[in-house]
Amino acid sequence: MNKSFVTFAVAGTFIVSSIFGGIAEAASISSLQKQQQDIQQKNSELSSDINTADQQINSLNAQQADVKEEMTRIDLSIGETHKKIREKTAKLEETKVEITRLQEEIKVTKERIDKRNELLKDRARNYQKTGGMVSYLDVLMGSKNFSDFIDRASAVATIMQADQDILAQHEADKKSLEENQAKLEVELASVQTMLADLEKMNQQLNAQRAEKDRLLATLEEQEDEIHEHKMELQEEAQILAGQSAAIQKAIELEQQRQAAAAAEAKAAAEAATAAAAAANNNNAGSGSGGGESTPTPPSPPVSSGAFTMPANGTFTSGFAPRWGSFHYGIDIANRAANVPIWAAADGVVIQSYYSSSYGNVIFIAHSVNGQTYTTVSAHMEARLVSSGAVVKKGQQIGIMGNTGDSTGKHLHFELHRGQWNGSKSNAINPVGIVPMP
Ligand SMILES: [Zn+2]
Repeated sequence: MNKSFVTFAVAGTFIVSSIFGGIAEAASISSLQKQQQDIQQKNSELSSDINTADQQINSLNAQQADVKEEMTRIDLSIGETHKKIREKTAKLEETKVEITRLQEEIKVTKERIDKRNELLKDRARNYQKTGGMVSYLDVLMGSKNFSDFIDRASAVATIMQADQDILAQHEADKKSLEENQAKLEVELASVQTMLADLEKMNQQLNAQRAEKDRLLATLEEQEDEIHEHKMELQEEAQILAGQSAAIQKAIELEQQRQAAAAAEAKAAAEAATAAAAAANNNNAGSGSGGGESTPTPPSPPVSSGAFTMPANGTFTSGFAPRWGSFHYGIDIANRAANVPIWAAADGVVIQSYYSSSYGNVIFIAHSVNGQTYTTVSAHMEARLVSSGAVVKKGQQIGIMGNTGDSTGKHLHFELHRGQWNGSKSNAINPVGIVPMP
């Protein structure tokens, strides 16, 4: 009954005093206030960085819009060029067909001329064999009178002229067909040149389009990177806000502790006065209540120093360069189910949340002998304490997991002397400070 009250009161002061290491009061508060100022300074820097990221995103968006506009223009040009190529290809085919047709016609005309020539030759040979011109003469001589003679003579002349006219006409036809063919062949060459030019233009346009595709992909990639960077900045700002809240809580607890200590000192002084008075009255009894106020011993895995082991398992990776960068923490792996994660020391939870990189993560502010530390426990399957909670050394805060940017179930544990920040400039090797499995 009385004991439970005592334990409660002791536990209260225990948390407070171990968070602040019981160091001299006013100095400790002003140091905490100084930390608050640092956080505010860092926060305004982050806001300005986030602003810059937003401006970069806007500029990239504008550039992307320009590129897309260019792409539209190129797409239209490609469509137009393709249409022209189709037209010219059709024209080319048409011209080729026309040339073939003309060649066929020229061939037929030539054959006809050859046949006609043969016929005229036959007729001339016939005239010679049968006395040729003589029979023409016979025709003329057989005329009854002069008028008949004229008629007959002109008939003979007409027949001979007709033969010549036919020949001349055929020659003219052949010449005109050949001229047409020559004209078409010039046209064919010109269409072929145009087609070649169009194909070249098409290639250039496609190359431009591919170039714009690449440019857009680069711009989008840059935007993704800046978005990611912005998210990191926002995450950092959130953690800073959490640190600020945790330190605010610490200031309040320190003020309470100072008030309680003053009251206790006053009560002790009064008790001493009363005890002295009682001793004067009777010298009999000897007290045996000294062991009563001893706190219950911690559960087996909890070490006796300021820090205790953050998890049980195999130490798989140390605070060292790794995979081309630096590993700012240590890894502890354990294949068993429901492996508990413990608070490494007494403290206040800065932030308990899910991060895309850290997975389920808990940031805790600790004060050990006047020095502020921040621990980070990452990749947990589950978080058992919330932002702002006061935790004790060895208290279970989560369950080991494989969340966020992690391959395989393990605890990633970081120790920072002072506050956590995005560049992890305060990270120190926990080995030698925090007990390890
Ligand atoms: Zn790690």
